[in-house]
Amino acid sequence: MGAITCKFGGTSLADGECIKKVADIVHSSPDRKYIVPSAPGKRHPNDKKITDLLILWHSIAKEGLDSSEPEKIIRERFRSIVAELKIELDIDSEIDEIANSATLYETPDFMASRGEYLNGKIIAKYLNATFIDPGKYILFDETGNLDPKTYNILGEKLQGSGLFVVPGFYGSMPDGSIKTFPRGGSDITGSIVARATKSVLYENWTDVDGFCMADPKIVPNPKKIEEITYQELRELSYMGATVLHDESIFPVMEFGIPIHIKNTHNPSAPGTLIVKNRVPKGPVCGIAGMGGFSMINIEKTFMNKERGFGLKVLSVLDEYDVRWEHMPTGIDTLSIIIRNNELGSKGPLIVESLKKRCDTQDVYLIRGLAMIATVGLGMNHHIGVAARLFTALANAGVNVRVIDQGSSEMNILVGVEESDLEKSIRAIYEAFVDWE
Ligand code: ADP
Ligand code: ASP
Ligand code: MG
Repeated sequence: MGAITCKFGGTSLADGECIKKVADIVHSSPDRKYIVPSAPGKRHPNDKKITDLLILWHSIAKEGLDSSEPEKIIRERFRSIVAELKIELDIDSEIDEIANSATLYETPDFMASRGEYLNGKIIAKYLNATFIDPGKYILFDETGNLDPKTYNILGEKLQGSGLFVVPGFYGSMPDGSIKTFPRGGSDITGSIVARATKSVLYENWTDVDGFCMADPKIVPNPKKIEEITYQELRELSYMGATVLHDESIFPVMEFGIPIHIKNTHNPSAPGTLIVKNRVPKGPVCGIAGMGGFSMINIEKTFMNKERGFGLKVLSVLDEYDVRWEHMPTGIDTLSIIIRNNELGSKGPLIVESLKKRCDTQDVYLIRGLAMIATVGLGMNHHIGVAARLFTALANAGVNVRVIDQGSSEMNILVGVEESDLEKSIRAIYEAFVDWE
């Protein structure tokens, strides 16, 4: 067939038993050649993720406080994995080395990356594979974007026979310091490896049977999606469908390398195939949503006639170094939707600046908003989609705070109170699940 890149998520690598299942999957096809592991994830809902503990370790140590607690939990977790797999690896020396570096760097990147680094070493040993440190071969440029020369450098390093293990989640800056991708970023590493090695398929192994029409934690037993396009997937993952990081489609999209989402704990399930094009069966393929948004509403009569009004608004956001997500407008109103973690505590200051710059007192900050994306290629030219969506929300007693529809006509976004998020997703799901 041709080489396959396999990324295994944290939930697929949470303990030794999981890693044994991963080895069975890898060995069941000679095409599975490039393995990209995450750090160990949660073994049960109340467990801790190794990456979270490493970030905590860094922040406690940086404050000069006692970080022995996270260090102990991490050490024990890795010791037990090594013991379960019965491999020869001096895990204590590895952790001692990490401990010595805990306060070396201002940012948490180096510490955060060590979960993938160690898990990569363990898995390479267990699979008898070559370990490739992405700190040397996945390169960022000065601005923190992936340097395209990575593809050649990494591709060359991954030539030859046998299996290769490339830990996910990190690379290095031009000065050699370690930099991580955003959280969930091992998916991006998998995609980079697939492209660098010209793999025919990028398998992304996780803990669900595939991409579902809605998050199984919100809608019980949701319909599985057999096939979805890169673009549809990006719209959904950007809005909270965490199965695959939204940025991970870019390296493979240009070359049309399909991504196959599969379940490590149920490998025979067909999974979801992510492709360039598909023929849609119904108008909606998925619904995703998340809380953590704020909205700034600006009202001013005849703002539509005022030259440069939008520019004034955006210049204020620019001065406060705040990135925005959506900007729905009316004749006399303009709203800006911003993620809370981007806005921080700057909201009231921005409101005051906007009042002055836009010469209106009617500027309001609304917090506690959730955004929901209803996505599907089949929505294009399909009559009645919006009517059905808003009827479903009205019947569920949801107050819609804001609406935005991209010109692509494949995504309708609605803003609701955070407390209405799950109810809204369930209502939209029920309205569209059987509409073919
Ligand atoms: P991994 O550790 O493999 O990277 P993640 O936790 O990042 O796994 O992603 C898998 C999780 O994504 C699932 O456990 C599920 O709860 C969640 N999820 C959110 N939206 C969806 C969806 N639409 N379909 C399937 N899973 C979803
Ligand atoms: N371990 C990293 C995280 O927890 C990256 C990943 O799992 O993809 O975000
Ligand atoms: Mg993930």
